[in-house]
Amino acid sequence: MSPLKFLVLGGTSEASALAGLLASDIRFSAMLSLAGRTAAPVLPAIACRIGGFGGVAGLTQYISDHAIQALVVATHPFAAQIRQNAVAAAGGARIPMLMIERPSWQTQEGDRWTEVADMEQAAAALGPAPRRVLLTIGRKDLLPFVAAPWHDYVIRSVDAPPPEFLPPSAKIITARGPFTLEDDLRMLHEERVAVIVTKNSGGTATQSKLVAARKLELPVIMVARPPWPNVTGLDAARVPDAAGALRWLEARHDDAASSAKRGV
Ligand code: NAP
Repeated sequence: MSPLKFLVLGGTSEASALAGLLASDIRFSAMLSLAGRTAAPVLPAIACRIGGFGGVAGLTQYISDHAIQALVVATHPFAAQIRQNAVAAAGGARIPMLMIERPSWQTQEGDRWTEVADMEQAAAALGPAPRRVLLTIGRKDLLPFVAAPWHDYVIRSVDAPPPEFLPPSAKIITARGPFTLEDDLRMLHEERVAVIVTKNSGGTATQSKLVAARKLELPVIMVARPPWPNVTGLDAARVPDAAGALRWLEARHDDAASSAKRGV
């Protein structure tokens, strides 16, 4: 039987882990897609393409041109647009879709979180008095903080944000996780951080800042994830990690193999 051909929308550690599990597995023919946002992406052990598809129409065309049999959405929980596009394209192309959704972080005893729905609410939650704020929210969502210029910001991101997205008082730290607790305790102390703003990304690579905040009794403003688009009517499943995704793909492969044997 020919290998199961599928597309993985990536940009996360789960997508990289899945690529590692799939490398040289002859049951599958996988293509990993990256948006091309980071200057030096970590390249996978499987075939990879880089750059947008051109919206829903472009993604649907790609699926058709490459005879893709399944779509695996392993994008970041805050990458809302590509998820919408994936749901629409999988529906239009009538192919099954798997979502890898890592669990959210949950509060623990000693945490001082304020949970908010979006970045505008996060900026408002900083309040009217000037504070030294650590932003670990990526590069795209800084504009609400430009509108709160009375705070001092320390911005940690993989690549430096463009100057036009920066609040007037901003120090940039370019760094890629995973970070250790010691790294984060040192950074929070050296930078005299009074409050942290972060997205509820989940996962272990950037979790140590939350442990550090708990130890230092620092407040955290936690931005909730955007909801998934409606998948009613789609052949869609959800798993929390790469191992779950591999099991789903194996089941798809086995189904296709038994259909091929029966000649259906
Ligand atoms: P987004 O707002 O949901 O998507 C914007 C556009 O970027 C999409 O419409 C699509 O362009 C393109 N795109 C996104 N992911 C793609 C992929 N895997 N392959 C090809 N094109 C993709 O996405 P974003 O928030 O800018 O995130 C971009 C990438 O960074 C994603 O792969 C995501 O997993 C990763 N990432 C995001 C965050 C975050 O906080 N947002 C954090 C860590 C990693 P077209 O419409 O032209 O196809």
